[in-house]
Amino acid sequence: MSDCIFCKIAEGQIPASKVYEDELICAFNDISPQAPVHALIIPKAHIADANSITEQTAAVVGHIFAHAGEIAEKLGVAASGYRIISNCGSDAGQTVAHLHFHLLGGKDMGEKLV
Ligand code: 5GP
Ligand code: ZN
Repeated sequence: MSDCIFCKIAEGQIPASKVYEDELICAFNDISPQAPVHALIIPKAHIADANSITEQTAAVVGHIFAHAGEIAEKLGVAASGYRIISNCGSDAGQTVAHLHFHLLGGKDMGEKLV
């Protein structure tokens, strides 16, 4: 997607502080961190949101979670704990239409939504 900011980050056209990258996914620090550790994990291929995941593309979500612990370890929060959130659509406040998982930690994350 030529006008997608996260596609551009994945392709290296827009700079980001990357903390993990492989052929399918990358993770980078959020530009406006909401916790001491706040990274975003994305598929490199454009998927707009959770609604858009299909049988053909679902494997990359598993790949993201297969590496989330390693990313958390690298960011120093694997032992202390962290929260992974994905917002889908306007009621959830999604602002970037490229599937992403927030990895938040580095403090007591406070009250849980669920
Ligand atoms: P959403 O609100 O869609 O769940 O999350 C989008 C996230 O992307 C926000 O936390 C926002 O701070 C982050 N973000 C938006 N633009 C950029 C950018 O250009 N670089 C980085 N690193 N993060 C961004
Ligand atoms: Zn995209």
